[in-house]
Amino acid sequence: HAKDAGRNNYQFYASRMNEAAGERLQMENALRQALASITPGHSPFSLHFQPQISVATGAIVGLEALARWSDPVLGDIPPTRFIQIAEESGLIQPLGDWIFWETCRNIRRFRDAGIAGLRVAVNISAQQLRHENLPQLVRGVLDCYDLTPQDLELEITESTAMQNPDLTLSILNQFSDMGIVLAIDDFGTGYSSLAYLKHLPIHRLKLDRSFVKDIETDPNDAAICSATVALGHNLGLELVAEGVETGAQRDFLSRLGCDVLQGFLYSRPLPAERIIEFIADHQAAGNR
Ligand code: C2E
Ligand code: MG
Ligand code: MG
Ligand code: MG
Repeated sequence: HAKDAGRNNYQFYASRMNEAAGERLQMENALRQALASITPGHSPFSLHFQPQISVATGAIVGLEALARWSDPVLGDIPPTRFIQIAEESGLIQPLGDWIFWETCRNIRRFRDAGIAGLRVAVNISAQQLRHENLPQLVRGVLDCYDLTPQDLELEITESTAMQNPDLTLSILNQFSDMGIVLAIDDFGTGYSSLAYLKHLPIHRLKLDRSFVKDIETDPNDAAICSATVALGHNLGLELVAEGVETGAQRDFLSRLGCDVLQGFLYSRPLPAERIIEFIADHQAAGNR
């Protein structure tokens, strides 16, 4: 009996693992097909944009571009899932290139709609930073849409920053020398060394949403946020808080001296046409 139960458990887990592997493979194939299906007029991928608000002025100072994938069979797949699969299967290369092109195409659209001075942040993966010619690609895409490096911001996580230190430093220096703003994403959740991070040409720290969530009730989270803001400011960095959902979180973070806030309190990530409307409404409200 115990033995049978053990065997049954094993069979249960083995079949669950096969299921997971099958699902993973199905998704990788779907991702490959989705990338191959992109044409100039149509893509199963899209970008949503989430505003970043200055605490000092209340103005929208930037947007973060967030990738979306809607598959006809599998439905909407969350970016955490498909980005991970893309990273593991080498598909982040073509997907990442598409994300750059699509971001810049949209920045051009925002400029043409009369929206000036808004920087758009793009998330980049560790695998993308392994390619020495990434700065040339980015410069080429900016040129193609008649944009400047000041229009763009790049976000990398701490763990991305810690991989391939020499190459990463060299590529980030090229971006920074071009005038592209660099941010460390999900700061505080990763595994990074401040001794190494201080050598990177970064401009902003994005305080992870997990610390913001219970900032008013969990003294440890409040202490982490407070210490991170102080640390970042002492290093001359701008502090951005992610995942701001409530007015109380906003007030707490602004009291701590956070510079920029991003979260559902202001807006969920929105498609390009809706973010253009959102910006117009926000500006109109500010001028009243
Ligand atoms: P991230 O870069 O840290 O992006 C912030 C995530 O937090 C986004 O999730 C956003 O929708 C969500 N968020 C923003 N404000 C709030 C809030 O107030 N409350 C809550 N609960 N969530 C909020 P999303 O779009 O699902 O993206 C998840 C992650 O997937 C991103 O985390 C990033 O790591 C990755 N990702 C998304 N797009 C891309 C991309 O184009 N390239 C790469 N390499 N990674 C991407
Ligand atoms: Mg990000
Ligand atoms: Mg983040
Ligand atoms: Mg995240």
